[in-house]
Amino acid sequence: MLKGIAASPGIEIGKVFILEQQQPELRMSSIAGDEVEKEHARFDNAIAVSRQQLEEIAAKTETELGKDKADIFRAHLMILDDALFLNEVRERVRSRLIAAENALSQVVEKYVAMFEGMEDEYIKARSADIRDIGDRLTANLLGVQRQSLADIDEEVIVVARDLSPSDTAQMNKQMVRAFVTDIGSRTAHTAIMARSLGIPAVVGMGDISRQVLDGDTIIVDGNDGQVILNPDALALDHYRQLQREYQCYLDGLCQLRDCACETTCRQRRVEIVANIGKPKDCQAALENGAEGIGLYRTEFFYMDRPDLPDEEEQFEAYKAVAQTMSSRPVIIRTLDIGGDKKLPYLDMPDEMNPFLGCRAIRLCLDHRDIFKTQLRAILRASHYGTLRIMYPMISGASEIRQANCVLDEAKEELEQEGFPFDRGIQVGIMVEIPSAAVTADLIAKEVDFFSIGTNDLIQYTLAVDRMNERISHLYEPLHPAVLRLIKHVIDASHRAGKWTGMCGEMAGDVVAAPILLGLGLDEFSMSPGSIPRVKQAIRSFSYQKAQEIAERVLQMESPEEIRSWLQTYGSDSGQSA
Ligand code: PEP
Ligand code: MG
Repeated sequence: MLKGIAASPGIEIGKVFILEQQQPELRMSSIAGDEVEKEHARFDNAIAVSRQQLEEIAAKTETELGKDKADIFRAHLMILDDALFLNEVRERVRSRLIAAENALSQVVEKYVAMFEGMEDEYIKARSADIRDIGDRLTANLLGVQRQSLADIDEEVIVVARDLSPSDTAQMNKQMVRAFVTDIGSRTAHTAIMARSLGIPAVVGMGDISRQVLDGDTIIVDGNDGQVILNPDALALDHYRQLQREYQCYLDGLCQLRDCACETTCRQRRVEIVANIGKPKDCQAALENGAEGIGLYRTEFFYMDRPDLPDEEEQFEAYKAVAQTMSSRPVIIRTLDIGGDKKLPYLDMPDEMNPFLGCRAIRLCLDHRDIFKTQLRAILRASHYGTLRIMYPMISGASEIRQANCVLDEAKEELEQEGFPFDRGIQVGIMVEIPSAAVTADLIAKEVDFFSIGTNDLIQYTLAVDRMNERISHLYEPLHPAVLRLIKHVIDASHRAGKWTGMCGEMAGDVVAAPILLGLGLDEFSMSPGSIPRVKQAIRSFSYQKAQEIAERVLQMESPEEIRSWLQTYGSDSGQSA
């Protein structure tokens, strides 16, 4: 049995599919003069195979994930029709007498460098497509199987060194039953996406991708972070039984779907809402009883495509969410790119510390055109539901004022252009930088609400990289410093007559639930799948008991002390917290 980090709950048993992420190494090979035609024929064949693959992937993607996702592959098909690009490869084979894959690699590098040097963002974006199509052609020239999680057509458990958020976004959910990675953490975006897709996942396994073979049987227990390779009959029986029990537990929780999220004796009612990354996640949110959306991570809309989405495309996506959720509030977070999330088409220079770098609101205030386009789209969509705007990575009041200036410009333009929108739209911020938490009382007057982003707040407060599995034991939501900051933010907002929610992963943690409830948190936002469990936990406490718990743990000096005390301190319905 191997132990990793439980990143997304659920138990799956299945066959291993190893996602190879290494590009084949190319050695320069020269050819004889009379081999040119043969190389050209190899190249033409690789083009034909690539075209067929891309047409199949585009058609499948369009049916399963929609037209916008399929457009990524259509952009690649267009490059395969580009005579200038293809002829340059043929010409190099002839004039330099080198193998087609070497000529291709030279031409790809030349075009990538050329596009990357352009000012125009759209043209720059083409470089990622060229590299991608170059990789596909190379793989087909060499007869190497190129893997994508979108292509998988049998039920498997994916094992990989790491998965990028866009790998996860492209995943064929029907076929990928679970995944296991060597690196990663509970709060990496890939893990967050796994939870919202409802796929069990264990991450931070060290070198499991080198220990398994394709086709091995594997058990993934995303509840406990356990992985078992080639289990014996006893282990298989045991986990099949656990799988059945877990399903019964989930079925029981489903019955709470339409119950209010309130403490015993109805002393306090809080809002329980969902975190989503795509409009279609609203379905899972509603199925799990979400009363709204507390965090719509819009960056996934920007990531999973070859170019920047325009205002119209964004408007349609936000409008779809607004209409699906109808009168239920939806908090749309403005673009939070940077850190572990990159846009292939945006010039984002490498940084020594990307999580401390040009991220989120900093990047938006640097690219005001991109920011304003998004704000216009959100405002226009606000006419169709109950939308709220939330700025990420705010460190102090002046950033809010700068962002609001762009928002005011967007409002003025829409007013003049005659678009209807919600003029009183609420605007809030994520409290995920300690400076914002500490000065919450000063910032409160600038906003309508706060939402505590514990994923980042914890990493910045404790100086523990949320992506680094080697120090994941230090990443402690129940650290007294974190709890005190949370209390300070909630108290400051209440004194100013504002409300505070939480949309970091801590909000979906049943152990933390009574503490947060007792501290006075007004809204809990989490992956849709966590809602029933947290609702059940909140409904099992009286408000008075939750307050007692919060007061008590705030006096404790270590997370260990807090955790062990919580285990002995039962809820009002007799369960242990
Ligand atoms: C957070 O930091 O808690 C948060 C919700 O934002 P993200 O995980 O997208 O950085
Ligand atoms: Mg964050």
